[in-house]
Amino acid sequence: MTENKIKTVACPTCGKPVEWRPENAFRPFCSERCKLIDLGEWATEQYRVPAETGPNPDELV
Ligand SMILES: [Zn+2]
Repeated sequence: MTENKIKTVACPTCGKPVEWRPENAFRPFCSERCKLIDLGEWATEQYRVPAETGPNPDELV
């Protein structure tokens, strides 16, 4: 029996179980790599703005 109530989600990129914890900065992704892959696909699909002025990282949070 465990008292831990850590929610687990499936990584959208690779499907691996990911523990939904505050220290997991990449959730719902299992890793930075999967997050970047997902963002990369998104950027490719939504290709409309050249990476000239790039999005402000502060606005992505
Ligand atoms: Zn993953």
